[in-house]
Amino acid sequence: MNDLSINTSIAYELPQPFTGRHLIDGAWVTGRETFDRVSPSHGTVVSTSSKGGPEETDAAIKAARRAFDAGIWSRISGRERAAVLLRVADLIEANVDRIALQETLESGKPISQSKGEVAGAADLWRYAAALARTSQGDSHNTLGSDMLGVVVKDPIGVVSVITPWNFPFWILSQKLPFALAAGCTVVVKPSEMTPSSTVMMGELLMQAGLPAGVCNIVLGYGDPVGSLKSTHPDVDMVTFTGSTAVGKLITKAASDTLKKVALELGGKNPQVIFPDADLENAADAVTFGVYFNVGQCCNSSSRIIVHEDIAEDFVARVVALSKKVKFGDPLDPTTQVGAIVTPEHNARIDGYVQEAVAAGARLELGGAYLDVEGLGDQFYQPTVISSVSADMAVAREEVFGPVLSVLTFRTLDDAIALTNDSEYGLSAGVWSESVHTCLEFARRAQAGTVWTNTWMDGYPELAFGGMKQSGTGREIGKYGFEEFLEVKSVVMRVGRDSRAPWVTPRAE
Ligand code: NAD
Repeated sequence: MNDLSINTSIAYELPQPFTGRHLIDGAWVTGRETFDRVSPSHGTVVSTSSKGGPEETDAAIKAARRAFDAGIWSRISGRERAAVLLRVADLIEANVDRIALQETLESGKPISQSKGEVAGAADLWRYAAALARTSQGDSHNTLGSDMLGVVVKDPIGVVSVITPWNFPFWILSQKLPFALAAGCTVVVKPSEMTPSSTVMMGELLMQAGLPAGVCNIVLGYGDPVGSLKSTHPDVDMVTFTGSTAVGKLITKAASDTLKKVALELGGKNPQVIFPDADLENAADAVTFGVYFNVGQCCNSSSRIIVHEDIAEDFVARVVALSKKVKFGDPLDPTTQVGAIVTPEHNARIDGYVQEAVAAGARLELGGAYLDVEGLGDQFYQPTVISSVSADMAVAREEVFGPVLSVLTFRTLDDAIALTNDSEYGLSAGVWSESVHTCLEFARRAQAGTVWTNTWMDGYPELAFGGMKQSGTGREIGKYGFEEFLEVKSVVMRVGRDSRAPWVTPRAE
């Protein structure tokens, strides 16, 4: 362990715990009960939030329903909606440091990464603002001389937004500005582990002039807040990011009222490395792909599929790079990898590793908790496991930790078969200098995103989402915007002649 790069605790004073309240119909509401979040890296309470129950959830949904039906947001022009979203983008940029610090304290992610995510979210708001002016359908001028058909798009209505803990501000910004751009009203529930940056977002929305009731926030747990948001008759759509297990519960819960459900779920994402690849570059991208956000990332490339001729050399490169990645204190600006979200989750990660080793896999690096001087051991060592077979849990399930599983292949067909041998289909990557290999892989991989000779680059323009059990629907980009729109056909008689009667006059 001594040859790893560890940033031990640095000297600083933590801020007072943040107080989070619900935002209902434009007013900040204090709940009767509260819940605390203990920082994963520092072990102290960093926020105290109002704990929502059925009453607050119902009030927030009813406020969103009233705001939608009144048309104060849904029926104003795209230009007016865009103006508010652009103001929010500016306010996000002016508040990066404050939001990022709280995000790091609650999630354990490095402060440099939090700042990047918060600042980067502003671009999602600007892109969504542009889309607010593009809601368009089509027209049909060939239905006959007295008929005209127009297909228009309408906002879908009241949207429940439910988000996870691993990218709280970023994922909120993948959903909220697009729903608002479409003209929807919303009720947001952030994860109970990372509620504060969503409350801060609520403050910015009020400052930007979003009308009361258009965005409501209820803090609390999946049960009852999340489940009521999935069943309430006044909700038209649920957009959820989180685990596949909860995604299935929400789909079942929403089926009684046939709400639209859009799901961004888990992944077991492979990077496939061919012998003709730029191996230095590929090894760096694999190292980034597995340790980014301590592997607690839906897009984590937690398995690699390497050609057997280069496997030994490639694993040695990744192990050497892994030792240089700076793990440790999330508040040190040079730290690249921070803490694990809860002690229970850290134990789960270790369980996956020990089970794989017991089943015959080889530990190339790590495989144990990481004790960071001054901060404790809610960290996990960078871990590389080779000789992994495709049936092991570590090769099939989301470990959600800094753990890389190495599988090998002989032919392109083998590599594609291993890639697709998964219940997930979120993302996949291929490394080769041959455009033919890259394109064939991209066309045959069952994944919502395929990266060729890169990993995890994303843009507001490009749709994101998963195939198979990684989800339904798409987020961001034009396709993400369309998820929040209904299609309506307007069929118009335009001629001077009246419509041919259906009831024929009785013969006299
Ligand atoms: P989670 O499913 O445990 O919780 C997500 C949210 O759902 C939280 O706000 C939680 O309170 C709420 N929830 C829990 N039970 C609920 C219920 N019965 N009804 C309604 N809401 C309920 O997920 P998590 O642990 O917060 O996040 C990690 C998971 O999210 C991983 O599986 C990861 O892959 C996935 N994820 C996916 C993407 C993506 O874009 N595909 C992005 C980030 C995270």
